Amino acid sequence: MIKINENYLKLQSSYLFSDIAKRVNAFAASNPDRQIIRLGIGDVTRALPGACIAALHGAVDEMSIDSTFRGYGPEQGYEFLREAIAQNDFQAVGADIHPDEVFVSDGAKCDTGNILEILSSNLTIAVPDPVYPVYVDTNVMAGRTGGWSDGRYEGLVYLEATEANGYVPEIPNERVDLIYLCFPNNPTGATATRQQLSQWVAYAKENKALILYDAAYVAFIRDESLPRSIYEIEGARGVAIEFRSFSKTAGFTGTRCAYTVVPKSCVAYDTQMKAHDLHSLWNRRHTTKFNGVSYPVQRAAEAVYSDAGKEQVRQLTDYYLRNASLILERMTGLGYTCAGGENSPYIWVNARMDSWEFFDLLLNKAAVVCTPGSGFGACGRGYIRLSAFNQHEQVEVAMDRIEEVVRK
Ligand code: PLP
Repeated sequence: MIKINENYLKLQSSYLFSDIAKRVNAFAASNPDRQIIRLGIGDVTRALPGACIAALHGAVDEMSIDSTFRGYGPEQGYEFLREAIAQNDFQAVGADIHPDEVFVSDGAKCDTGNILEILSSNLTIAVPDPVYPVYVDTNVMAGRTGGWSDGRYEGLVYLEATEANGYVPEIPNERVDLIYLCFPNNPTGATATRQQLSQWVAYAKENKALILYDAAYVAFIRDESLPRSIYEIEGARGVAIEFRSFSKTAGFTGTRCAYTVVPKSCVAYDTQMKAHDLHSLWNRRHTTKFNGVSYPVQRAAEAVYSDAGKEQVRQLTDYYLRNASLILERMTGLGYTCAGGENSPYIWVNARMDSWEFFDLLLNKAAVVCTPGSGFGACGRGYIRLSAFNQHEQVEVAMDRIEEVVRK
């Protein structure tokens, strides 16, 4: 008899964004004339940089001629892109990462989930709370948790990120094997200092643990004192895997390109305590189960690192950061305690009421969509996330509307 993976039955049925969509659709149906402004889902709204478009066109033309046509490419990514990544994203900030340690993929979401395949199913796993839900759900699917109880999965160690600790979780008192960290953070917008990351690296080394470091929002960092990569921290090569994405950096959410760095010196252990390099395991997994990103898309991603591309990416992220700072300023002006909004496209707002209650208030009275913080974990209760991904004029209107509603 064919049987299902019963771990899927443990998953909480409503994915946060489908709940939001249901409420927004109901509001739209009963208010057909009201223009809804979405500051909810973290999808970008602006077109791809010109340099990427030109590279895409050029690569498509190459595919139309026999002499320049490309078939199957290397699953790990073309050398031209891996070199550009290693040089610009790592070596330029003093992080010792080599092109052959970079694995190009179609998304950081898939990679953060798939990486679990090369790790034992018998691990103590620490996830931040609030958290990007993919880290939790992929562990549930893989059978690494117990059931759902009172807003949390049994068996996971939750690293609480709160106003009190500036949304950078403290090092756990207990021993954990796998740690998820995400900076700049989704959903809180918090960033971690070099010193804070150093403490995590030291903990991982001491406990023979592994850090999964998600830097999908690194392009929004403007504060020069903040680390861009975990590999800027001494010793991190041995204990950390880093995930990056062109999605938010350069508007690739629909074009799809990302990458994962697995340093050759990063190890995990077998039951005999013998160390194995994770690079070889991930290389095996990636080449067996992944076909690579299409040639034109890799050329478009490479263009991000050209002089014109760098300038355009800067303008693109500056645009969203201008929205973020407007949201932060206006919400703070209304008396709300906020985090993020600087070095990050997200603003985490203490709603001073239940998350969904505030969501409904903003939707029904201001026709503005936010994301209820409770969807990101128990510590998100009483918060909402506002996203800077929208046209500036729309953000201004949204803030005027919110002001009118909450001032009443
Ligand atoms: N990591 C974080 C923290 C995210 O917020 C997102 C998308 O919202 C991703 C990864 C997904 O990136 P990608 O589009 O490359 O799958």
